Amino acid sequence: MVMLSRRFFGFTALGVVSLIAMPVSAQSSTAGTPVKVVASFSILADMVRNVGGDRVAVSALVGPDGDAHVFQPTPADVKTLADAKVVFVNGLGFEGWIERLVGSAAYKGPVVVATSGIQAQEMAHEDEKGGHAHGKDAKKEAKRDDHDHDAFDPHAWQDLRNGQVYVDNILSGLIKADPAGEATYKANAAAYKTKLQALDAWVKAELGGVPKARRKVITSHDAFGYFASAYGVTFLAPVGLSTDAEPSAKGVASLIRQVKKEKVTALFVENITNPKLIEQIGRETRVKPGGRLFSDALSKAGGPAASYLDMFRHNVAQLKAAMSGS
Ligand code: ZN
Repeated sequence: MVMLSRRFFGFTALGVVSLIAMPVSAQSSTAGTPVKVVASFSILADMVRNVGGDRVAVSALVGPDGDAHVFQPTPADVKTLADAKVVFVNGLGFEGWIERLVGSAAYKGPVVVATSGIQAQEMAHEDEKGGHAHGKDAKKEAKRDDHDHDAFDPHAWQDLRNGQVYVDNILSGLIKADPAGEATYKANAAAYKTKLQALDAWVKAELGGVPKARRKVITSHDAFGYFASAYGVTFLAPVGLSTDAEPSAKGVASLIRQVKKEKVTALFVENITNPKLIEQIGRETRVKPGGRLFSDALSKAGGPAASYLDMFRHNVAQLKAAMSGS
């Protein structure tokens, strides 16, 4: 009871102050009521929080350790979206469920696509994966049976230069939703981008120190295509760009042959996928386990990858240790 009345008093006092100090038009966003913002998944939500700061209250639809590829919105998500002033999505087919959810919520506000303006990658990298042709073909066949529209790799946040484009898109989305916050958002975005640039340089330095021949790993699904291009690590994966399709037995067998032939240094499970298949491949190839990578979702608060920046620090430390053989 004491807590409740104190909070009530605090809110009232704040409201009075802003009534006196602020022009009428700016009241809503300066009276301590943050702008309600929705982001489709945890990594994007963290980026929006960094740009929005105290002026926004960000809800993630797909939370920590959640898999956005196979997400099924609940009635609670419909309500969250209906209350939002602006919605941020990754785009490139990552959130196949978003249009239907927007319809269910009768949401009429802006949907900001964070990947707008990036150089989108095709679903496989001929040059990076070299001898991976069999696995890649198997994946293409699986896609053809399913849908044929997933031509681009959605995991663009795995390159920190793209992360900076996300920040630019988030910035303009927030300014449109809350023009009074423009100066704050711009300052936050600039400070955050400086951190992303510094981290990008750190990743390149860390991984650049590992001999190129050792920079070959396996992980559960094809989430690291942009990471591979940006930072010069080859990733093999039994599952394609989306986790919604099971790999064929033929595809897995050909991946196992390839892993044995090439000198893959380590094998990683992911926080969002079932580790069974990758562990089976580990047993059959005797590639040593390198740990757990965070691909499409952050860890819970207090975990090793609770922010976008910490996700990179964690993943790179794991990759470097495993590839260096230490
Ligand atoms: Zn993914």
